Amino acid sequence: APRVGVLALQGAFREHRSLLEGLGAQVTEVRLPHHLSGLNGLVLPGGESTTMANLLSAYGLWDPIRAFHAAGNAMWGTCAGAILLAREVEGAPPQFGGRQDSLGLLDVTVQRNAFGRQVDSFSAPLSVQGLSTPFPGVFIRAPLFRRTGQDVQVLARHGEDAVMVRQGRALGTVFHPELTRDARVHELFLNLCPHPLPA
Ligand code: GLN
Repeated sequence: APRVGVLALQGAFREHRSLLEGLGAQVTEVRLPHHLSGLNGLVLPGGESTTMANLLSAYGLWDPIRAFHAAGNAMWGTCAGAILLAREVEGAPPQFGGRQDSLGLLDVTVQRNAFGRQVDSFSAPLSVQGLSTPFPGVFIRAPLFRRTGQDVQVLARHGEDAVMVRQGRALGTVFHPELTRDARVHELFLNLCPHPLPA
């Protein structure tokens, strides 16, 4: 079974953990660089991306995560996690000069809080490439992929907007599959790991 980590600094990491374990994966909570050793994939959960970025700096995780990806391991960011994976971030808080650090592992421009405020959170069925029936999309102060680079595949849209993307072994969703009982996107992620689930 794949051994995967869930970044556990802040946000919805427990929910990811239980869906992944339900699929037979061995899950480690990642808080420090050495927690990454021996893992095949890493999930960056939803939460608050400015806070998570600050904690990544505090725990010295930026470069170890980039190296983990460069070594061929799978990555998946949900919502705030997708913001962390992006090359460019729009809509960072003005008190930070509108700038926000990110990992730059998905060649996309992401816009934070693109659907409005917390009260504008919603759910909508999404047609996802590779899944035969709609997936329940849960959007909570969600960002949007505004620009997607040449090597980025759009796997789902909400209307015109790209809401799920893939670039090689890196996956980004602006919605929250970990807040549903539907484990199909988690399964898709495990199959991007170097040692996928047994068929
Ligand atoms: N609005 C949050 C951010 O920009 C993301 C929300 C979420 O992860 N549910 O960081």
